[in-house]
Amino acid sequence: MPKFMSKRTRIAVATALLIGGAPQAFAANCLEVTLTGTQGGPAVFNGLAGAGTLVRYGPEENGCSDILLQFDAGRGTLQRLSQIDVTVLQIQTIFLTHVHSDHVDGLADLMQLRWHLGSQMPKVDLVCSQDAPSPTGHAMSCTELAEHIGDPYLRSGEIAQRLAENPDRRPGGPADLLNIEAFTPGNEPAEVWRHDDVVVSAIASRHVPGHVSYRVDTPAGSVVIAGDASNDTPQPPRDSSVSANVETLTQGADILVHSVIHRIMGPDGASGFPPSVYHRQSTAEDLGAMAERAGVASLIYTHLIPPLGAAAMGPYPVQPGGLSAADYEASAREGGYSGNVIVGTDLATLRIPAE
Ligand SMILES: [Zn+2]
Repeated sequence: MPKFMSKRTRIAVATALLIGGAPQAFAANCLEVTLTGTQGGPAVFNGLAGAGTLVRYGPEENGCSDILLQFDAGRGTLQRLSQIDVTVLQIQTIFLTHVHSDHVDGLADLMQLRWHLGSQMPKVDLVCSQDAPSPTGHAMSCTELAEHIGDPYLRSGEIAQRLAENPDRRPGGPADLLNIEAFTPGNEPAEVWRHDDVVVSAIASRHVPGHVSYRVDTPAGSVVIAGDASNDTPQPPRDSSVSANVETLTQGADILVHSVIHRIMGPDGASGFPPSVYHRQSTAEDLGAMAERAGVASLIYTHLIPPLGAAAMGPYPVQPGGLSAADYEASAREGGYSGNVIVGTDLATLRIPAE
C-alpha cells in the first residue's frame, strides 16, 4: 500500500527544501487535471463528450506533460483531446473505472487511431479490474471489452483492406495495441501503476460490479478520480450516498473528481428517473460533506446528472431551464464543503501549482 503524503507533510517537506536551498524541486513540476468529457450516462446533450479525465504531470516548461494518463474514455474523447493539442500517441496508459458505455465509448475510437498512426509503438497499458460477477449472474469484463475492441473493424473487412494498402500495422487490429493490466480491487488503496515518483492506486467502490476508483500521487499534488462511485448499501436507509472506500482513498488529496447526481432526480422528485440508477450515484450534498471530511482542496463535479441547463435527462424531465452551476455549488455548500468547487464542463482544467 503506498504511503500518501498529506498536504501538511508536503508543506513540511517543501519548507525543508527551502531551508536547504533547493526550492526548485517542488516548483519545477506540475500536475494538471482536465475533464475530457462531462456527460453522465448514455444520453446526449448539447455536444458534451462522454466521461473522462486526463491527468498530466511533468515540468512546467513542458506543459506538465511528461506523463499523460487517461481515466475513462467516453464518447468524443479524441475530439476533446485534439482541442488541447494532445494526440492519441501521447497517451501512455488508460485506466477504466468501469465498463459502462458512457465511460468507454471513446476507447475503440482512440485505439483505432492509435492503430493507424502508432502501430509501431509499444502497446498501451489498459488498467482496469478483473472480471467481476454480479449477484444476478452476469459478469462485467474489461478484458472482454479490450480484447474485442477492434472486432467490428476486423469483421467488416476494414482492417484487412487497410493492411492490404499498408502492411506496417498490427495484423490483429486495434486490440493488438492494448496490454491489459487487470487487477483485483480491494477495500484498501493498492498501487496499480507507477512511473518513478508518480503512483496510481485503486480501491474497490460500488456502482456496478468491477467499479474502481483511482488516486494519482505526484510530488506536485494528488488527484482522486472516483468514477461513478456510491455507497456500498445500494439504497436507503443508509447514512450517505457516497462510498466509504472513496473517502479512504481521498484523505488528504488535493483534488477530487467525482460523478454527481442532483437530488432533483431523486425518487421524491417529479422526474421519474429510475430510483435504482439514482441510488448508484453520489449526490452533490453528500459529496460536499465527504470532501470536507477528507480535507480536499478542490472538488470537481463531473458526469453531471442532469447536465447544466438541460430541461431533461434523456427522457426524464428536470425543470424548465435546468440546473445552473450555482445550483450544484449550493448543494456542495449545503453539504458543508468550504473548499474550491468546480462544476465540471468539458475541458475544465485545474493545475497544481496554479499558473
Ligand atoms: Zn457513468
